[in-house]
Amino acid sequence: MKNKSFETNCVHGNYIPENAEPQVLPIVQSTVYRYYNTEDLAALFNLQSADNMYSRISNPTTNKLEEKMAMLEGGTAAVATASGQAATMFSILNIASAGDHVLSSSSIYGGTYNLLAVTLKKFGVDFTFFNQDMSADEIMALAQPNTKAIFVETLANPALMVLDFDKFSKIAKKLGLPLIVDNTLATPALCRPFEHGADVVIHSTTKYSDGHASTIGGMVIDGGTFDWAAAGDKFPGMVESDASYHGLKFYETFGNVAYAVKIRAQLLRDIGATMSPMTAYLTHQGLQTLHLRMERHSQNALQLAEYLQTHPMVDWVRYPGLKTDQAYDLSKKYMPDGAGGVITFGVKGGRKASEKAMENLKLTSLVVHVGDVRTCVLQPASTSHRQLSDEEQLKAGIKPELVRISVGIENIDDIKEDFNQALNRVK
Ligand code: PLP
Repeated sequence: MKNKSFETNCVHGNYIPENAEPQVLPIVQSTVYRYYNTEDLAALFNLQSADNMYSRISNPTTNKLEEKMAMLEGGTAAVATASGQAATMFSILNIASAGDHVLSSSSIYGGTYNLLAVTLKKFGVDFTFFNQDMSADEIMALAQPNTKAIFVETLANPALMVLDFDKFSKIAKKLGLPLIVDNTLATPALCRPFEHGADVVIHSTTKYSDGHASTIGGMVIDGGTFDWAAAGDKFPGMVESDASYHGLKFYETFGNVAYAVKIRAQLLRDIGATMSPMTAYLTHQGLQTLHLRMERHSQNALQLAEYLQTHPMVDWVRYPGLKTDQAYDLSKKYMPDGAGGVITFGVKGGRKASEKAMENLKLTSLVVHVGDVRTCVLQPASTSHRQLSDEEQLKAGIKPELVRISVGIENIDDIKEDFNQALNRVK
């Protein structure tokens, strides 16, 4: 299967039906799995068997989606979660606890920023946010003896910075820390962070993985690349005996899938932010067209960005695929097949004018979403990033007038015309 191309894996992936089996991945809607002897069940509780026992922890439909996401990203194993937020939380709490510290880019999704800066801080995990443009030395100087990870996004939502993987993988290696990358906006169709030095990849599968705005979900993917023992006693949960599994040591027992097994065996078991089989099914369906959708999202976004640049009512446009864009060189290096479907722009006249333009749109919908087949817009300053102070918003790359467009896969002329009529009616 590894030799098959990305596109073929999107379509067929790891679900190959046997003779007379369903052509489409079945939804196994069952809470529990029946056993005929107690020894088999006991083996599950000892993590000596990977079979299913209870759908909070694993489920056959969800397993198939997890395997597929791991395959598409090139990781060793994956754990599906109830949302992207849960995936982010698990990716951190799997290796950091009260008294620990994590370094994070400030150019991240607003909900992630709240989760890290406010909620996980209440759990006792402290975060220092850096500007991705700072030098490697400046960023490394922010690390502390208790720092456990570096958190970044491949394509920042909505700052549209493209991660300099070369710089950040070197920083992570020098500091002996895992690099956790949120690859939601880029998707494995456009960038595979494990090929550029990431150790853990997370997703809000709610976005392009599903792609049709039908279901909320998340995924944590283990790259199998990080040596948890090399760091001595820095990651005790990975290398020391776990009392809840009779002294089992995750890294020693599970090697390059230990990080994923630990999430499932502890965080999913105890916190229960589990993806439902229905969501796994819908997301699995969505992934079958991921390669085609991302190609068209990227083509349409580039054409719309070029068009908006020429519109008299538009003040500025940001799209990493534009030759004039600050992120162009990095996007060519790390996302050579397309810079994704997200554009940001400002309307002449500032925030009020931008709001008016959004309200004038007809085909395009005003929704709190990105990654849908339908073109949609949002003003982060008043919605997704509203909880951030003005200063924090500017640090996250959000100007008050910024409109984020998630360009869909409709006909590009129809999309352009919609923006043209909306902008022309701004007074
Ligand atoms: N990461 C990114 C980049 C996002 O854009 C989002 C949601 O917008 C999330 C994580 C959170 O995902 P969810 O809404 O599925 O919890």
